Amino acid sequence: MTDVFNIEDYYSTDQQIQENYERLRKSVKSQRAHPLSYRKEQLGQLSKIMENEKEVICEALKMDLNKGYSESVLFEICAIENELRLFASRLEEWNKPEYVSKSFLYAMDDVHIKRDPYGMVLIIGAWNYPIQLVLLPLAGAIAGGNCAILKPSEIAPHCAKVVTDLVTKYMDPECYAVLNGAAKETQKMLEYRWEHIFYTGSNRIAKIISKAACDHLTPVTLELGGKNPTYVHSDVDLDVTAKRIAWGKFMNVGQTCLAPDYVLCHSSVVEPFTEAMIRTVKKFYTDNPQTFSDYGRIINKMQLNRITKMLDNTKGEIVLGGERDIDERYLAPTIVKNVKTDDSLFDGEIFGPVLPILQVDSYEHALDVINEAEERSLSIYVFCKDKKIVEIFRDRTTSGSFVSNDSVVQAGCLSLPFGGVGHSGTGSYHGKYSFENFTHQKAVLLKSQGGEAINSMRYPPITRKTADR
Ligand code: NAD
Repeated sequence: MTDVFNIEDYYSTDQQIQENYERLRKSVKSQRAHPLSYRKEQLGQLSKIMENEKEVICEALKMDLNKGYSESVLFEICAIENELRLFASRLEEWNKPEYVSKSFLYAMDDVHIKRDPYGMVLIIGAWNYPIQLVLLPLAGAIAGGNCAILKPSEIAPHCAKVVTDLVTKYMDPECYAVLNGAAKETQKMLEYRWEHIFYTGSNRIAKIISKAACDHLTPVTLELGGKNPTYVHSDVDLDVTAKRIAWGKFMNVGQTCLAPDYVLCHSSVVEPFTEAMIRTVKKFYTDNPQTFSDYGRIINKMQLNRITKMLDNTKGEIVLGGERDIDERYLAPTIVKNVKTDDSLFDGEIFGPVLPILQVDSYEHALDVINEAEERSLSIYVFCKDKKIVEIFRDRTTSGSFVSNDSVVQAGCLSLPFGGVGHSGTGSYHGKYSFENFTHQKAVLLKSQGGEAINSMRYPPITRKTADR
């Protein structure tokens, strides 16, 4: 693949948006995507993309984010493959009517929940995991029996092109399509009526998406970001803790929605913890990460400027990194200590390879800092051997997910829902939750024509004696 294409050449025109929408709308009307056999076949096609096109996908990720091969395979391709394997073994069971308990009034009736496809779904992706963030929701949309249009992020252009090429090559064009574009084109797409919109990205744009969805009363799933607080208690194994935080923070150069955003470290271990972090980062990425092939790049200069501005205004002490190369979109893994909550590093989500360390006197102090934040985060991480303290954090905080003694790994646990709360998102997906996210739970009550002896009690005129019974 060469670097000489312009993604704007791929932006969809108003006419292309209309044509694709109308073609898929016909399939929604004919229920083409409904049969389970069809869903399985199309999920199989998605598996073939993962199997046959690994190299092409990894190359695009390298071009856009300098993602290393193993990171691309593990966190983009395997994530989708695992989900597809689960769908292959469980979809039939999930799709069966779910029989629910019933009171004596419905004893003679068939009472169950039937999962209905929504119809037409719009999936809008972000740039940081540009393959996974459109193809994983697509798998859920297919499993649910929907037609779907994908709108990959134009900020990761090579990946947007690859997604376009591969979906066009492998998937049924009557039910699935890719449209491209930036804000203007996406807003054009949002003028149409969708039965569900699945959006991954920033809170700012999520408001635009929600307002547009509101015009058609379209339900939305919003997978957003925020700051993920990470508490380090005094009793931890420092090397283990440092490895698990560094891994979650610096993978994909900190451009991971679930990455620990900042560390609240117990004062009694703040110095050795900081040293352990520095040691670990050097071990992971060498003394010169710029020349290390598996250390990625910031997606573009605008994002790099945003992060370096936060870093340059910090009142904390940079103890590792800080070096940058604007032309290469490089920012070294950076650790800043003695940071306070009014610091520039708290002017929003960092979403880059900068880890601020704040000192707290006690776990209660850390709890206060977390709970004083206005917005709910996507995740909270607590590193602590004392299970009682872990439970206190779990019970007294609110976040999309909660993990003790690790970071980011919850995304791979398909039996857990993946999603935020409040400003970090609404709705969830992954595994069975994806199937549920892309289907409506229809309440079904199947009665016969019999049972009039009981029914007659509710037909007028109802005597006072009957009502009081
Ligand atoms: P982005 O700029 O790629 O935007 C996301 C999508 O919105 C793109 O497809 C883009 O074309 C579209 N868009 C941009 N401006 C628009 C507008 N004015 N109108 C309509 N559509 C528009 O990505 P981003 O927003 O910078 O993504 C980064 C954020 O996403 C971070 O906050 C991160 O935490 C969050 N994120 C969350 C998850 C999650 O699963 N919760 C995953 C990845 C990223």
